[in-house]
Amino acid sequence: TTEQLTKYEKIETFVKGFKLSGAAYKRVMALLHQEMNNGLRKQSHTMADIKMFPTFVRSLPDGSEKGEFLALDLGGTNFRVLLVRLQAVDIDIQSKTYLIPQRIMLGTGTQLFDHIADCIGKFVNEHNLTNHCLPLGFTFSFPCQQEGLAKARLSKWTKGFRCEGVVGEDICQLLQEALKRRTNCKVEIVAVVNDAVGTLMSAAHGDRNCEIGLILGTGCNACYMEYLDNVGTWRNDEDHHPKQVIINTEWGAFGDNGCLDFMRTEYDTELDTFSINPGKQIMEKMISGMYMGEIVRLVLERLTREGLLFRSVDRECALFERGRFYTKYVSEIESDTDEFFRNTKQVLDEIHVESYTTEDCKIVKYVCTLISARAAFLAAAGLATLINRLNKQDMTIAVDGSLYRFHPRFHNLMCLKIKELVKPGLKFKLSLSHDGSGKGAALTAAVSLRLR
Ligand code: ADP
Repeated sequence: TTEQLTKYEKIETFVKGFKLSGAAYKRVMALLHQEMNNGLRKQSHTMADIKMFPTFVRSLPDGSEKGEFLALDLGGTNFRVLLVRLQAVDIDIQSKTYLIPQRIMLGTGTQLFDHIADCIGKFVNEHNLTNHCLPLGFTFSFPCQQEGLAKARLSKWTKGFRCEGVVGEDICQLLQEALKRRTNCKVEIVAVVNDAVGTLMSAAHGDRNCEIGLILGTGCNACYMEYLDNVGTWRNDEDHHPKQVIINTEWGAFGDNGCLDFMRTEYDTELDTFSINPGKQIMEKMISGMYMGEIVRLVLERLTREGLLFRSVDRECALFERGRFYTKYVSEIESDTDEFFRNTKQVLDEIHVESYTTEDCKIVKYVCTLISARAAFLAAAGLATLINRLNKQDMTIAVDGSLYRFHPRFHNLMCLKIKELVKPGLKFKLSLSHDGSGKGAALTAAVSLRLR
């Protein structure tokens, strides 16, 4: 009917900003390419938003990696110690998760690293490894300026950690000293990586075409193998062979200089204003799991206030509360495939929407699809930029993170858009990477020993 048409047309005016043309994504690619060059060049690096940090990881696994390694994964409330046994294609992993109590997360650096060392000591004892010389690969998912493969200075704590006396220090040295203090294990830290690099290393072990790693989880970041000649920030006195290094792009910060404003919506601006880091991580805020649910919530809230959605909603409804609409809801809602809207209804019940119609469910799902598609397309534009730069016939991209794993359409949407955006003839594959923080860290350690 005419009345219904009008309603849908009205809704459209509130969400059309999420529908972007192919030309818009091509513009994103051109800007990103430029910003990547700025990050890589010595003269422009300091001012660049995308830091393009060289990681000191110079080689991918070639399948010949062998031996027994410890890996450590620190990046949230739990941390894991892993024993990784590599033997050609066979990889055996045993791991144990330990808790980091709140008082340690907010205590001193010494307490934190002593606690970690104690856990490693226990793990080594339990596995009867006390007399083994064990190289260790450390996945440390906090922002660091790396100065060597096993030398990384913490830039700042995030994710609820605030241990005194660690910012600016070399975290490998702090851990090595704690190990000496607290244990009699012969453990040597040989490599520190972030989760994107771990993801790439883990997948590259079984796939020679894999040279790009992508994280779509709490944050969004990518890394790739770059020719040393293109890395102006690489120190000249370093050994130049092999002539390549993995670059940690830290591309979540793309757009911090305003260059993406042409595609941001009023909802993006509002989310940014109320975030703990306004003006920062602009690309990440349009893509990652930490923010997607909140963008959906802002749109649903707006449509509700405009009288276009939900006839009656309680003031107390979580729809009006910041941070109360989780990204996992978006996955659940988009998993509905029929007119029963089973998942959507469950989510609406959970956030206490009092009464809703099937039409409301349809609108909610529609909003989710627009926002997740924009996220997937933007991530795709980022990947297409990298694929075009590397210009290889066949490229595998290793991907990890809950958003990619659990969203029902993310993979397909990304493939679709990348195909549209890469140079004709370039083939690519997105592949889910397993256990980047364990296997990937151990492989990085193994590769570094091979190249010593
Ligand atoms: P991290 O990136 O912190 O290592 P994850 O890869 O698990 O860990 O990502 C966590 C993020 O993924 C959170 O922001 C959360 O909102 C989001 N997330 C969790 N479950 C889902 C899901 N089913 N669908 C989409 N996003 C999810």
